Amino acid sequence: MPVSGSQPHPSDAALQLLLFVDRRPSSWEQLRSVRRYLQDAKINFDYDLEVIEVGDKPYLAEHFKLIATPALIKIHPKPQQTLAGSNLVEQLDRHWSRWRRSVEDYLNNPSAQSETEASPESAMDFVTNSSQLMQLSDEVFRLQRENEELQEQLRFKERLISILAHELRNPLTAASLAIETLESVIPKSEGDILPLSPQRMSDLFDRARTQTRLIEKTISDILQASQGESQLKIQPKSLNLGRLCREAVSQQQKRLQAKSLKLKTDIPNDLPRAYADGERIRQVVLNLLDNAIKYTPAEGSIKLAILHRTAQKIQVSVSDTGPGIPLENQQTIFEDRFRLQRDRGIEGYGIGLALCQRIVRAHYGQIWVDSVPEKGSCFHFTLPVYPK
Ligand code: ADP
Repeated sequence: MPVSGSQPHPSDAALQLLLFVDRRPSSWEQLRSVRRYLQDAKINFDYDLEVIEVGDKPYLAEHFKLIATPALIKIHPKPQQTLAGSNLVEQLDRHWSRWRRSVEDYLNNPSAQSETEASPESAMDFVTNSSQLMQLSDEVFRLQRENEELQEQLRFKERLISILAHELRNPLTAASLAIETLESVIPKSEGDILPLSPQRMSDLFDRARTQTRLIEKTISDILQASQGESQLKIQPKSLNLGRLCREAVSQQQKRLQAKSLKLKTDIPNDLPRAYADGERIRQVVLNLLDNAIKYTPAEGSIKLAILHRTAQKIQVSVSDTGPGIPLENQQTIFEDRFRLQRDRGIEGYGIGLALCQRIVRAHYGQIWVDSVPEKGSCFHFTLPVYPK
């Protein structure tokens, strides 16, 4: 006898039953009892018992208008009949002789039923088809969401290209100007006097060199960012960074109080929206606040400030009056599993800042620390501004 699991399949059995169960153990106990009843019933015709987990296929429960589980439904032969409740086997026993008779009537005269009602195939097929239909519509929904996400990623990339082009143009213009000035003063013939002092010439060379280094740094940031992005999937959207930071601060109130730390915020009301993945940025802000609280001695001060730095960038800074970070470690603290020897006694794994860096880079932003040892640290990170 075909007694199937949770995946409905077409059936042409003379008796077709659906058993809806839920995850409760009592439900599975009922299933075992129903199976046992059917085995003991000495059935001499084909029957099909389809077991459906109601949580997996709620649309089927809705279709059969179920109000309780477990429920046993005779879907063929007609008329359809539903037994529900905790005493399924008792109810089945009461209905069994009638159900058996309806099957025998059907087997003696199958055309009688198909004239009035659906054929056995169509009854069970409905279950199969609606299940497939739901799977398809789930798939369409998933693809739609994926498509929206990809569109958003594309918009984010376009926005970044315009920001990066802008960022590269300023140092490029400055370097070109310095080079052009130097070029214009090259003596045309021997004996011509240089119109610029050696000091002025050296300043112009310096300026050209500094600006080309800046261009180089921006390009290497972009390359690192694209690496970070491939390691970490982000879903950037228009983000109210001010609200996110206020929420993050209020989440830390208890810990601040426990150490008698003062926390000040400087979050302007007219900030533009950032273009970022809210959940990921929340992780960054919480990590920075967490470190500030962890490493700052009791009675110290912490400050969270947001600055609309340029038309394209918004900056978050978390500063504290803790022990600070030695100059030689100001880059290495962002490496995975790096901890200062000094802080080995404080709990931590050395992964928080590495994660922050990966997240910020995936947004094509920058993260760095300014610190005067023994005076405190100030961690900053930047994010792109959402286009108006
Ligand atoms: P964890 O705090 O779990 O050790 P992090 O990656 O967050 O890992 O930080 C790396 C290291 O940087 C810390 O172990 C600590 O030595 C130093 N550090 C981070 N934040 C601060 C801070 N606000 N003040 C002083 N040192 C810090």
